[in-house]
Amino acid sequence: MQPAKPDAATAAENRDYAQQRALMVERYVAARGVKDPRVLEAMRQTPRHLFVPQVVRAKSYGESALPIGAGQTISQPWIVGRMIELLELNGSEKVLEVGTGTGYQACVLSKVAARVFSIERINELALRAVELVRELKLHNVSVKVFDGTYGWSDQAPFDRIIVAATAPELPEPLVQQLGRGGTLVIPLGRSDDQRLARVRRVGTGIQIEDCGPASFVPLIGRFGWKDEEKAK
Ligand code: SAM
Repeated sequence: MQPAKPDAATAAENRDYAQQRALMVERYVAARGVKDPRVLEAMRQTPRHLFVPQVVRAKSYGESALPIGAGQTISQPWIVGRMIELLELNGSEKVLEVGTGTGYQACVLSKVAARVFSIERINELALRAVELVRELKLHNVSVKVFDGTYGWSDQAPFDRIIVAATAPELPEPLVQQLGRGGTLVIPLGRSDDQRLARVRRVGTGIQIEDCGPASFVPLIGRFGWKDEEKAK
């Protein structure tokens, strides 16, 4: 255990992180086209350095994805901003996230949506996410360990669904759990050939819009890839 830092040192460190965060948002998120002021402000407020292991903490306000353990990554700041912007949130929505990781995106979502339900298949990552949700007092975020390709049926329908891992095709349970007028944002394709899709529920059908290239780890599960090799 590290000795507790004096208050003044902690306050100075927090100011420094806040400055780094503001620069990250300006250079790597806003400069790359994300405009929604609520999303940009939520990212300015979210301490990304807490969601990565100590060994990569110095890089936490750069532009890259970073390892978070168990062979998984925290997504690039730009793609987090882009995907959340594509959800077109006004703050009243109930959101399902599939692929919690250590909870960074769930924390950003908690500031721009009413309620966030997030599913992670790897226990150790979900445990860290739960710890951070508690530490940061995010009272509107729930995390569970499960195969997220099944969705979260007893909380459905959702106004928005966001998937942080690439799927071979639209997971049917997620489409079923999307409420009327709802939107699902999900990367589709193999590890080296992915596109971001925005799916809207319109009446009894769906409309799919291509939103450009993406680069995510595979969505592994019953309605995803069967294993990492198959996604290559
Ligand atoms: N949202 C995370 C963040 O903000 O840092 C990034 C998550 S990482 C890019 C994708 C995550 O999806 C991994 O932690 C992986 O274990 C998880 N995942 C893959 N398949 C899954 C599934 N079927 N259900 C739930 N989580 C899954």
